[in-house]
Amino acid sequence: MVRAGKAATFATAVMAISCVSLATAENKDYPITPVPFTAVKVADGFWAPRIETNRTITIPAIFRKCEETGRIDNFAIAGGLMKGEYKGERYNDTDVYKTIEGASYSLMVHPDPELERYLDGVIAKIAAAQEPDGYLYTPRTASPGQVQPGTGAERWAELAISHELYNAGHLYEAAAAHFLATGKRSLLDVALKNADLIAGTFGPEPGKRQGFPGHQEIELALVKLYRLTGNAAYLDLARYFLDQRGHGVKLVQYPPGNRFAIYNDATQIQAHKPVFEQDEAVGHAVRLTYMASGMADVAALTGDRAYFEAVRKLWENVVGKKMYLTGGIGSRHDRERFGDDYELPNLTGYLETCASIGMAFWNHRMFLLTGEAGYIDIMERVMYNGVLSGVSLDGALFFYPNPLESDGRYRFNKGRAGRAPWFGVACCPGNVSRFLPSVPGYIYATRGDVVYVNLFIAGEGRIGLGRRAVNIKQESRFPWDGKVRITIDPERGGRFALHIRIPGWTQNRPVPTDLYAFEEPGEAKVSIQVNGKVVPLDMDKGFARISRVWKRGDRIDIVLPMEARRVAAHPSVKDDEGFVAVERGPLVYCAEWPDNGGRALNIVLPAGTVFRAEDRPDLLGGVTILKGEALAADATAVTRFGEAGAKDAAADDEDEAPPAARRRLAPGAALRPHPLVLIPYYAWAHRGDGEMSVWLFKSGTQY
Ligand SMILES: [Zn+2]
Repeated sequence: MVRAGKAATFATAVMAISCVSLATAENKDYPITPVPFTAVKVADGFWAPRIETNRTITIPAIFRKCEETGRIDNFAIAGGLMKGEYKGERYNDTDVYKTIEGASYSLMVHPDPELERYLDGVIAKIAAAQEPDGYLYTPRTASPGQVQPGTGAERWAELAISHELYNAGHLYEAAAAHFLATGKRSLLDVALKNADLIAGTFGPEPGKRQGFPGHQEIELALVKLYRLTGNAAYLDLARYFLDQRGHGVKLVQYPPGNRFAIYNDATQIQAHKPVFEQDEAVGHAVRLTYMASGMADVAALTGDRAYFEAVRKLWENVVGKKMYLTGGIGSRHDRERFGDDYELPNLTGYLETCASIGMAFWNHRMFLLTGEAGYIDIMERVMYNGVLSGVSLDGALFFYPNPLESDGRYRFNKGRAGRAPWFGVACCPGNVSRFLPSVPGYIYATRGDVVYVNLFIAGEGRIGLGRRAVNIKQESRFPWDGKVRITIDPERGGRFALHIRIPGWTQNRPVPTDLYAFEEPGEAKVSIQVNGKVVPLDMDKGFARISRVWKRGDRIDIVLPMEARRVAAHPSVKDDEGFVAVERGPLVYCAEWPDNGGRALNIVLPAGTVFRAEDRPDLLGGVTILKGEALAADATAVTRFGEAGAKDAAADDEDEAPPAARRRLAPGAALRPHPLVLIPYYAWAHRGDGEMSVWLFKSGTQY
């Protein structure tokens, strides 16, 4: 049934998941096809070392934590391979699945027999934990006496809370990745048996159960199984689960104070309205991004325009009113939720790492549907800022929330004011481990005889364009330097078009909405030369189009201006009123205490400050810092106000009630000259707990 076959070659296996959908008579799919990461070798100074650190440090560290915390034993206990009781949260299986997915991606480009053998051992335990009819959910199988609500004797009885279908989704993603990486069916067979059980259990047909998952994830994962197998039942089930939301749901009501009371409210799980009627992003942020990614998949694979319009409405709300400058989302610690429109507190913002990764998934899919570069602008923003901040430079420490401000005291990161090696709820580390090795797959895409260059990351790619193969090479020091050289080497000469993304940040549009704007228009212009001759920018949906008869060795030189730019938020974002932030290229910068005399929250940025970019290979893994003459106030002149503290109190066991969110400067506060140093936001929190801020007081504002 699996098209790619038992001993799939690498290329055919990758094609099966990335390029081809043969399952419907109409042959519908995304009009744009990503070039799979297995066909792209990243060889730059920025992402390549991070991907290698992920392989050598992060993945082994997470597996070790999964062992130490009983996450892997839970499978062995459920499978009768060892004695004991289920330990931990009811979604802990997914930490193992996500890391298998990351390890598999890593194996695709970096064979590692030892890692492959390790995966075989873990997969044998997972297979043992599967019940004879395909059911796989270790909390129930290992400890039928109910570990937590939703894990009791009856299957599927409390879908809003049990995470049974969420866990299954991560199993499918891991299984697809493992099969494509190794050609082994060991995990895929487990996944397909489980998916067949679920497809036989749920659906609109008489006699089947009605329901939908409380935590979206299985929808986009079923689409992956559909792509791999061509079994339309999986696509139908994905659509069914999305369509079921919002048509009446009876939620168990937990008493106030009970930690499961967060599930009393249908908006938390985006089940308050049918997905077509949802025009505001509410509830749990990660769930919304996974739901939207599944909606985009269904829109592409069924050709259903209404699905596209629904997902586009949600996108406009998120990117127009609910997104932080780093691309992160989710304003409230309380229930990991979106806030109201323009509610974007900095100190107390949540911005879960998983939600940033979900934004990358979602925006990439929106690009594949539309060909619009604005979606890649958001994807790039969140990759370089919101996602990357979630993992330390050494690959061993993590952020769960990623706020844009720290006072050095508020323990925003599950009980810490800095990075942590692990969390009780450990979704974020595993998510990072699977995202990083897939980054090369976001660089290029094709449509007919068009090659899209979406991201500027040095390395080489081999791109199938109809019956022609085109080798493409990028050389650059991006994101530190805006000079990019692309060399084209088609196996046969001929006409095709290169669409090179011209980032919004070079076009006075940091985001494709009015949520953020540069204070001044940029002076420098983008330039493109082909074989040394300047070509005019022929723009199409945010891409510079160069259509010509290409021949071996043709060279494109791109210069993207890398000025430091001041950004302001929409006036309705009260938390950013009177503040300004600084960006350079795709990077959001911040002031952190070690570079600024021990403080950062007292800095005032005068109008017209000139920034000097300085390469610092010795600092924070090698960064370009920004220096400028600023002002600083006495610390006592900075006070806090606002009510976010009350709104966010007691979000979960590990969080503490935060201080008031907003910061102001006393009117008439004395200011002294301050030599300002800014570092890339992603690199903060490597030198001890202390003050950090993306937003700096803007001089001349009445506070
Ligand atoms: Zn997470």
